[in-house]
Amino acid sequence: MSEMGSERYPDSVGMCGVDCALAPCYRTGTCLGCRSGNHDQKRISKWKCRIRICVLSKNLGHCGECDEFPCKIRRRLDKNYREKYGIDLLANTRALADLGPVRWCLCQQSENRCRDCGGTVDPYKHTCYECGKLLG
Ligand code: SF4
Ligand SMILES: [Zn+2]
Repeated sequence: MSEMGSERYPDSVGMCGVDCALAPCYRTGTCLGCRSGNHDQKRISKWKCRIRICVLSKNLGHCGECDEFPCKIRRRLDKNYREKYGIDLLANTRALADLGPVRWCLCQQSENRCRDCGGTVDPYKHTCYECGKLLG
């Protein structure tokens, strides 16, 4: 956990607006989340993530607190998420700024809940982690 402002940020709250808690690598423990500084985790992509490095260098909680948001450093990620997964990371980031991390996490959970079993939906494969159903 890290602390910014009045609320604590779980390690799973991505600095770019991704909710790591919904990602397979976080759920399997391969990655401990964007904010984790633990070097004993298998997934290493975050150490060179330009967005993460930039947010930390500016001492911000996430991009939504930045005057330059949305900047060109984010452009490829935002486009990929929109086109590949149908995820609007810019909206996610704005919501994080509006709601704060605690309410944002709850909203992310409820937006990604399986209608059939109440489990969590993998937003990348649109499949429920619990019952395996493909959700439209
Ligand atoms: S919006 Fe861009 S400049 Fe601002 S913190 Fe995020 S990556 Fe850095
Ligand atoms: Zn389900």
